[in-house]
Parts: sequence; C-alpha cells; structure tokens
Amino acid sequence: MAVKYVYFFGAGQTEGNGGMRNLLGGKGANLAEMTAIGLPVPPGFTLTTELCTEFYRNNRHYPEGLQQEVADHLARLEQAMEKKFGDPDNPLLLSVRSGSRASMPGMMDTVLNLGLNDVTVQGLIAGSGNPRFAWDSYRRFIQMYSDVVMGMDSDLLEDILEQTKELRGVKLDTELTAEDLRQLVIRFKNKVQETLGRQFPSDPEEQLWGAINAVFGSWMNPRAVTYRKLNNIPADWGTAVNVQAMVFGNMGNDCATGVAFTRNPSTGENRFFGEFLLNAQGEDVVAGIRTPQPIDKASNDGHLPSLEEVMPACYEQLLQIRSTLEQHYRDMQDIEFTIEKDHLYMLQTRNGKRTAKAAVKIAVDMVLEGLISKQEAVLRVAPEQLDQLLHPSLDPKADKDVVATGLPASPGAASGEIVFSAEDAEEAAKLGLKVVLVRIETSPEDIHGMHAAQGILTARGGMTSHAAVVARGMGKCCVAGCGGIKVDYKAQQFTDESGQVFKRGDVITLDGSTGEVMKGLVPTVEPELTGDFGQLMEWVDEFRRLRVRANADTPNDAAVARQFGAEGIGLCRTEHMFFEADRIMAVREMILADDVEGRKRALSKILPMQKGDFLGLFQEMKGLPVTIRLLDPPLHEFLPHTRREIDELAAVMNVSAEVLQQKVDHLHEVNPMLGHRGCRLGITFPEIYDMQVQAIMEAACTLVREENYEIVPEIMIPLVGHVNELKLLRNRASRVADEVVLRSGAKIDYLIGTMIELPRAALTAHEIAEEAEFFSFGTNDLTQTTFGLSRDDAGKFLPFYVQRELLPCDPFVMLDQSGVGELVRIGCEKGRQTRPNIKLGICGEHGGEPSSIIFCHRLGLDYVSCSPYRVPIARLAAAHAALLEKKA
Ligand code: PEP
Ligand code: MG
Repeated sequence: MAVKYVYFFGAGQTEGNGGMRNLLGGKGANLAEMTAIGLPVPPGFTLTTELCTEFYRNNRHYPEGLQQEVADHLARLEQAMEKKFGDPDNPLLLSVRSGSRASMPGMMDTVLNLGLNDVTVQGLIAGSGNPRFAWDSYRRFIQMYSDVVMGMDSDLLEDILEQTKELRGVKLDTELTAEDLRQLVIRFKNKVQETLGRQFPSDPEEQLWGAINAVFGSWMNPRAVTYRKLNNIPADWGTAVNVQAMVFGNMGNDCATGVAFTRNPSTGENRFFGEFLLNAQGEDVVAGIRTPQPIDKASNDGHLPSLEEVMPACYEQLLQIRSTLEQHYRDMQDIEFTIEKDHLYMLQTRNGKRTAKAAVKIAVDMVLEGLISKQEAVLRVAPEQLDQLLHPSLDPKADKDVVATGLPASPGAASGEIVFSAEDAEEAAKLGLKVVLVRIETSPEDIHGMHAAQGILTARGGMTSHAAVVARGMGKCCVAGCGGIKVDYKAQQFTDESGQVFKRGDVITLDGSTGEVMKGLVPTVEPELTGDFGQLMEWVDEFRRLRVRANADTPNDAAVARQFGAEGIGLCRTEHMFFEADRIMAVREMILADDVEGRKRALSKILPMQKGDFLGLFQEMKGLPVTIRLLDPPLHEFLPHTRREIDELAAVMNVSAEVLQQKVDHLHEVNPMLGHRGCRLGITFPEIYDMQVQAIMEAACTLVREENYEIVPEIMIPLVGHVNELKLLRNRASRVADEVVLRSGAKIDYLIGTMIELPRAALTAHEIAEEAEFFSFGTNDLTQTTFGLSRDDAGKFLPFYVQRELLPCDPFVMLDQSGVGELVRIGCEKGRQTRPNIKLGICGEHGGEPSSIIFCHRLGLDYVSCSPYRVPIARLAAAHAALLEKKA
C-alpha cells in the first residue's frame, strides 16, 4: 500500500490522533486530538514529518502522488467549510504552519491568509461586508509570504507600513482605513516586484505549494538548526506542515486573538494566565506590536480591560476548555485561540513550557488534585531543570537601587555588564565576563546571545513574548516589556525614566521574579528548599534505589550537602586541606625533607590539624558514611613558586635558598598527571599515608568513645593500577589503624578500598577486589586515561570535537557510556566476581550528571557522589532511573 502522507481533521472527524506525535508533529497531533474531544478547531490537514524526511532524502522533491493526496484533502476541507479555495465569490483562506515532534517555539515559519489575490479579495469583501478586514488580511499575507516564502527582507515592507502610519498620523495598524490598506497592498506588490524582480504570485495553488515548500525548507534554516543543537533534537525527526482553514481575529472589535497558559508558567500558580488583543491576528500577541490585555479580571491592573470583561461569554467558554484540556492532557497547557465574531476557535494546545519553580509546583499540585500519580509528578520534573531552584536569589535585605520595572518573565536573579547585541553577549561570555543582554525585543536570531548572557532585559513585549518564552525554557532570568527604559543601540546605552544613562559595560542586576531592574550588583541569598520542593523530593526519595553522596572536603561543604539531602560523603579530597595558610609551610617542609626523620618531624606538625579536619567532617555527617581519600596529587603542586616563598621556607628549614631551589627543580615533572601521584606517593613516602590514616582513625575513635558516634570510616587509596600496590598500602594502613583502635579502646570498624580510575584497574578488578572492600569509580581520571585526553589541556580542542560532532558531547561532563562506561561495567562485574557484596560508587563529576546517573543505576552501583549543589539533581535523576526501569 502506498504510504499515507496527509491526515485530515475537522468537523468532528480525524484521521490522526494525539498519540501520533512523531508522525504528525506536536501541533498536528493535538489539533486532531482537540477535534476528537469535541473542541472547536477549524478543520484542516497535516502533511507528515515522514514526508519532510522523504523531501530531504529526495533532494527536495516530493513522492509521486502527493499532489493528488493534497488535492483530495483540500477538497474535503472545502466541503467542511462550504467554501472553495481560490473562489472569486466565497474564497477559502488557509493558514500554513510548521509543527515538529518537539516544540520549537518561534523557530520555524508560518504563513497566514493564504489564497488571497486581487480577485479573491473582492470575494472576501463581499462575503464579510468588511473591506477593511479584507485588505488588512491581504496586506498581512503579502508581508508574511514575501518574507517566509520569497525570502525578501521583511524590513522593506515594514518600513512602508511605518511610513503610511506616519503619513496618516496614527500609531497603530488598527487605525489605518480600508483605503490605506488597499493602497498598501499595491505598494507592497510593487516593492516585491522591484526588489525580487518577479511578481507576487496570484495563483492560490502556487501560493499553497510555495508555503508548504517554505515550511519544510525552514526545518534546515540556521536558527532551527541552532535550536535543535541546543536542545538535542535530531535533524531526522523532520517537521510536519499543518494546512488549516483560516478563522479571523481581525474582523473588528467583536474579534480577538490570544495565547494563554492553563496555569501560571512562571510560578505554577493554579490560575488561568494569558493575554489577548482585540481585532488582531496570529502573531500580533507574541510580536509585542501592541500591549496585550489580560485574560481574567483579577489580572486587570486598571490599564486595559480583560477578556472576562470585554467578552464574558467567550471567556466562560475558554475557562471550560481550560478545564477540559487539563483533565484530558493531565498537564498544564499552552494554548492559542482566536475569536471570530464572538465565536471561539482553538488553534493550538501543547504542554506548556515552564520554569523549574512552576514545574515543581504544578507537579505537586496535580498530585494533590488527583490528576496524576506521585510517580508521574516525579517524572514531570527534569533533573537538570532543578538547577534553577538550587541557586541563589536576591537578598531581600540588600539595598537595591531600582531604576525600572518590567514584567517578571522568568525568575532568578542575575547581575552583569550591559551588552546590546547577541554577538556582544557571546563575545563577552567567551572572555569569561558576566553580561546582561538588553534589547528592545528579542527574536530567534538572538538565541545564541541569550544563551551566553546571565539575564535578559527587553523594553517591549509581554509575558508570552519571544524573550519571555525562550528565557523560561533556558531557565534564565528575564525581565520583559520594561517600557520605562529607552534603548539606543547606536549610542550603546539605555536611559531610565529619570534620565539616568546606562552605558555598555555598566553593571545592572535583574530580578526575574519581580521584574525589577537595579543599578549595580545586588547580593544574593541561598534558595528555599522546603514547601513544594521539599514535598517533591520526599517522593523522589521513595522511588530511587541509588544512594546519593556528596564530594565534600570541609565541614562547611558537608553542611550544604546535608541540607540538599546528601546521604554521606563519597569523596573527601584531603589535598585541599593541605593548602590552608596555617599548614602549607609544614607540608612543604615535609615534601622537601632529606630523610624519613625530617619528613616525620614535619608530618607531626600536620597530624593534629588533619585530625581536626576529620573530626569536623564526622561531626557534620553524624554517623553517615564518609569516604576519605589519601593524598593524590603530584607533590610539586604544593611547592613554593616565588623567590619570597623559597626564602621563607629556607629559613624555617635551616638550608640555603639555593639548595632549596635545587630540590624544587628536582621535583619538577614532565607529565605530572601520569607521574609521581596517587598511591605512588604512599609507596615512596609511606609516612604521609601513615599520618593520614592515624588522623582519620584518631578522629573517629574520639567521637565513638566520647560521643557514642557510630562511624565506619572508609579509607580510600587513589590511582591504583596493580593489585600489588593496594596490597602493600592496605597492609600498612590497617596496621596503623589497628594500632590506633587498640590504643583508644574504641569499638570501631573501618573499610579500606580504592578508586578505579585507570583502565588497568578496571580490567583487573577481580584481582584488586581481593584487597579492596569498596570501589569508587573516579571517572574524571578514567576518562582522561581511557581517551588519553589531558583533563587540563582538553579545553583547547575538545569544544571543536563537539562542535564538529566528532564526539556527541564533552566526555568529562557526560559519561562516555560505550568506552569509559564499558570499563566501569567491567570493573563492577569483575569486582563482584571476587567479592559479591563489594560496595560500589562513583565520585567523578559524572556522579551529578543525569544521563550518567541513569547508567550507574543500570549497572547496579550502590551510590553516586557529586558536588553539594547537584545532590538534589542526582536524587531526582536516580528516581527517574528507577521509575523508567519499572516502566520498561
Ligand atoms: C576522579 O578522577 O574521577 C576523581 C574523582 O578524582 P580527582 O578528580 O580528584 O582526580
Ligand atoms: Mg582522580
């Protein structure tokens, strides 16, 4: 059977349904679904995403028979509408819109009012009795079509429109008369002819195919390509094309068009939230051309009347639809509607994009409302998204100099230097500067700059403007529609209402939750972790199997980690303690000592300090497991560098500066990452590890004996490549530990284990497990050594690899599952062969990255360990892993 490429919806009948999202795109599937559940949807048909793929596969040609299939569906549409496409008396007009599987707001193209020409416009006038509306639709059509399909610079016609308004002494498009608009149509067509050297097409059939080609073509336009890259959307998904009968929001003041969210997308509050414009069409609301009016009376701040007041019957119907949609989709919806002569039509519904704050609140509320289960609520929040909630917001007690207020479009706080273009934002971010992007309004061309900026401020546009929607999707703070500022791109400055001037490079602060714009940098406070967030995390903990620990070196880090729900410390890097100002001299003395005695003398100075460090950690963790890694980095990292430091140390050590300098030079390594580091230090200078083990065990014994703690310290030996290394060090460590225990009389157990961070360790894990009671996969070093990629130098070329798609992503961020991950899998399997109950964890950066965490769950690790701020993300990702496994 021939492949079906076109699906009809309308008049209560549908060939597709909501489940066919992959084939019909989000918009097409939902138009079919809304039609099926009896909502008022203008009829139409969808050309499938498969057709898009076919189109590109065949060098931009359509399969045979498509023309006929489209013609058949058009005939069916004409029948449903009782109008004919191209009919001089009663013409059917069409909208042609893209719609891919994943929503890509504003990324692709749309053509409205298609089918108009000098003849059909007369039919439209006769049918509607409204010449102004007909000419307005016609001039809109030429503007959109010449831009989207013919590739003409849209400013050329926009300028003519502006000139006309100026000439007529009016501000708004709606103030132009029918005659003004008729004249505009003529001037527009002339301009097209003059600019492109060809006529604006008058044949409706040609117009339709032009628009279909353009929408399929827009799938590969640069901004769609960029958006897909940023959002990991594969190019072969393709877009669908929706051809739908036009309904008109621009026929007069009993007409309107609007967009709404069934709940507040910024805060998650369960209240209808949206904007509309009277006597307007399609993109007017999002384009920020006129100031939109609120949907409900409660949001009317006295400036403009709400839909509830202006069109109460339509408002009631819309409220009903809001509830029908939420009950049906069981999620917050983002809708578009048009009112034509008091008749309401639904043009789109989709799951609404929302801030992290709103995602959490909506998920929790919907469980309490009985709409979804706790499991669904947990799966509704993306782990990475939580990041937005875990970062500081403005300190409410801080002084702030508010210079303007706009709309609170996307929450969070951001400070930075002002830049006025996406290019400047990107440049500055590359130099490590924090910037705030200030624009009159944003468009899809600005995406890369928005990505690079800390926050976004726009002078125009509402809560559903491009800037607002995109910033919320990115989790970036945004203040939109800040009418109080005057932006002057040429002078690279903006002026507030009092006349104060802000130049490029001046620092401002934005509060995306209040809409305030402040002069200078305003301090921030830590996030709130109770309320809805706390509730959701409680559910998260019910479903996950993986434990989550933190990488923490100080009692302070440990306290933050505990607040975020860490269940232990998976990695304490002891070297960080060696850098403290009061001990670095002793550390240097130890490293540069001539003999064992000298080393021991210096170490005895460090011992009490180390013991204090571990006491603090154990106290903070209150009996939760703590893994302490013995010294790992190459010794020369601790050495004095400047002449002054050398002189100072020489005096303490009672040697000449020259002798000391020689020793320092002697310790220099060509390739320190593969050099004298990790367990190799413990083997050549055993006194260092002895001291550390003694400090760990003395701290633990003190707390066990004096404060009844139950502690089982986990002593971890780094960078083991051969079992003999571990055997030697383990014997020595347990001898020291046992001595301490015996001396103290405490009843205490301890574990000795190792990091698996070299390929050889993973491959011989069955041998290593003879000597190790636990493994912790150090995937930072394991990535470095598996790829043969220097952690310190990869920044110079790795981004290029990712850009050129030689690698799907940075393997230091996302675990390379097929390579490095395979070694982890082998390590687990072989470790368990020898010691079935061996405790397994991961402490590389990947322990806080959701896709890597899901991988760790599948391997059956006991825990992941990550930086304190990522602990909630890891908890949520672990719950996702468990729930997804169940689903599968
Ligand atoms: C690792 O290598 O993954 C690890 C956790 O250790 P470090 O980053 O300290 O080398
Ligand atoms: Mg390491």
